[in-house]
Parts: sequence; structure tokens; C-alpha cells
Amino acid sequence: MCPFRRDESALPALLPDSGDALQRTILATVPDALIVIDEAGSILLFSDAAARMFGYATEEVIGHNVRMLMPNPDRDRHDDYMRHYMETGEAHVIGIGRVTRARRRDGSSFPIELAVGEARSERGRLFTGFIRDLTEIERAERRLNDLQSELSHISRVSAMGSLASALAHELNQPLTAIASYAEGARTLLGEAGTPPSEDIAMVREALAEASAEALRAGQIVRRLREFISRGESEKRVEKLRRLVTEATALAMTGTGQTGIDVEIRLDPAVDLVICDRIQIQQVLLNLIRNAVEAMQRSPRQSLEIRSRPARGGKGRAGLAEVVVSDSGPGLSPDMAAVLFQPFNTSKEKGMGLGLSISRTIIEAHGGRIWAEPSEFGGTAFHFTLERAEEPQDG
Ligand code: ADP
Repeated sequence: MCPFRRDESALPALLPDSGDALQRTILATVPDALIVIDEAGSILLFSDAAARMFGYATEEVIGHNVRMLMPNPDRDRHDDYMRHYMETGEAHVIGIGRVTRARRRDGSSFPIELAVGEARSERGRLFTGFIRDLTEIERAERRLNDLQSELSHISRVSAMGSLASALAHELNQPLTAIASYAEGARTLLGEAGTPPSEDIAMVREALAEASAEALRAGQIVRRLREFISRGESEKRVEKLRRLVTEATALAMTGTGQTGIDVEIRLDPAVDLVICDRIQIQQVLLNLIRNAVEAMQRSPRQSLEIRSRPARGGKGRAGLAEVVVSDSGPGLSPDMAAVLFQPFNTSKEKGMGLGLSISRTIIEAHGGRIWAEPSEFGGTAFHFTLERAEEPQDG
């Protein structure tokens, strides 16, 4: 006898007085994959659509842990997720739903939309999962995204191209002046011996002019950065949760990457911050896109965005610290040294402007931005923002 036959006596009645026949009909006809598990994670019900989607016969999964239907990292972590939920009531999926990946019998993984509900019965808590296969949608989306990113790249490149030529033109003047003042000073100093004192005076003048021109060149670059990060900022009280969820959705849509395990862990105690929403979303978008690009070839693709209270800041409310962590290869020492300086990039099509603009924006908000190794072995970018309310606990 098969050890994993459906244990009819253990099955919960889906509807009062429903009887086995009704339950069987529902399982056979419900168009989405439906899976019911108990609080230990054991599969109690597995609809026919689920059997088709995962390539398992119902008998092969009943009584087994639902982990078998997940690829890593969820497969190894699922027991911890369940335990965490049982102990704290903090849900990551239950009642929320998410886009994640599932694993077929043959080991291949595919994108799914998962909606999980919870019910209490005499057997303890039961969890119902409805699963939609997103393979086709993902394929269509990827085609669209390829097209979109191609288009946005082209428009970015042409905008940058005109910006760069304007910049080159503006910078050319002070740089030419610096070169000719330096050349003049060198000529005045002569080959050997002490030059006459009137020449020394002219050398001094030429050097003063050269340094004034160098400062002008510096101002042009500063103006450019202010222009890019939009000087006119509108600071308001904003909800971090909204900023982060919108920016994440936007960042992930543009990339066509759905194999990434995205986790958003925001501390509700630091939800209200003072900022220009669009600018901070620009920073988040830069950091998330960089993280996604860094993980392109990583076997494990984990992206986490979390927030927590931090000390400091001008106001009495203190700071909120936002951390964007990835499991990519981390920063090379060369890049780490010049990370926030403009025009440093390791990417073939990169501009090397994202982080420098992000720093300008965060500093204009009175905050700080920095990078550290992440707990997933990649990079974690941290930035701070002024909180809008005082902590309750003092
Ligand atoms: P760009 O993305 O156009 O190169 P950025 O200023 O956003 O410009 O990033 C500069 C460089 O910093 C990148 O080219 C990359 O080498 C490095 N970098 C940024 N974020 C990460 C990250 N999460 N992991 C590893 N390297 C990163």
C-alpha cells in the first residue's frame, strides 16, 4: 500500500456537511492550483490543477512537507518562516500574497503568484494556498521589458549625450584657461636661474587666475549634479512603506527579473520621514537596480530592504535608516574607494552617475549614505532620513 495515500479521516471538511464527493469535485475543477497544509507544513489537500502544474500525482505529495514544492532559498527556510509566524504572528505571505517561485517534480523552477489564507479548525491552523503559474506572463513581460529597457536606455543615453556635450563645452573654457596660465607661468620661470622679480609677480598672478578657473570648473560640475538631482525639492512628511513598495515595484518591473527573492522588512516605528518623495524614490530605484544588476550571475539572488531607527539628525525625532542589501559579489576595493564619485562605473553601458546623484540627494536631505558588506555576502547600501515623529519610548 502506498504510504502516502490521502488520509481521508484527517481531512478537514471544506464546507459544513459538504461530504467527500463535493470536496473531490472542488479539487478536480478549481482552475487554480489549490494546496492546503497544516501548521507543521504537511500537505493535506492538493487539487488536480496543482498536480498538473507541479507534475506530481496527488498521492506523491499528501502527507509530505510543502517545502518539496519550493526551490531554494525558500525550501530550506520554510520551516523557519512557519515557526516565526506561529510565534510572532508576523506574516510575510499570509493574507498578503506575493510573486515568488515554485519547483516542479523535475526540479525546474517557475514563477508563481501565491495567495495564502488561514483558517482555524479542530486540527489547529490550516493554510490554503492558491497558486497561479506566471511562466507565460513572465515571458511576455520579459519581451516587453527588453523593449522598454532598450527604449529607456536610448533616451537616457541621448539625454546624457546632450548633457555631456554641454558639459564638455562649458568645462573646456576654464580648462583651456588653466592650461595657458600654467604654460605662461612655466615660460616666465625660465629654464634656469632666478627670474626677475616682475616676472615672479606675473607668475603669481597667472597661478591665481589658474586656481580661480579651476574653482569655476568645480562649480560647473557641482551645478550639473544639482541639476541632475533636481535642485527644487519639495519636502513633506511621507510614509516609508509607500516610498519603498512603489520604488521596488518600479525597479523590478524594469528589469524583467522575477527570480529574485525580495524581502521588505520595514519597522513601523520609523514609517514617517521628511523628504521629497520623488527624489528618495530615485535613490531607492538606483540602489535596487544596482543590486539587481550585481546579482545577475549570483546563484543566490536575495534582495532585502529594511528600515530601523538610528541616532542623530538635526530634529528631536532622530533618524530612520534604510538598508538595501543584496547577495551579489560585493564591491571591488577599487570601486569602493570612488563609489560615490561621478563617472565611475564597472558596467559596459553604465554612466557612473547613480550613486553620486544619490549622495547629492541624501546629503541635501541632511542624511548620510554609505556602503558596507551585506549579511548575504554582497553589498548593503545604508542611508538615513529625518524622522517626522518622536519615538514613543523616548
Ligand atoms: P552605474 O550603475 O551607471 O555604473 P552607479 O554610480 O550607480 O553607476 O554605480 C557605480 C558602480 O558602483 C557600479 O558600476 C558598480 O561597479 C558599483 N556598484 C554599485 N552598486 C553595487 C552593488 N549593489 N554591488 C556591487 N557593485 C555595485
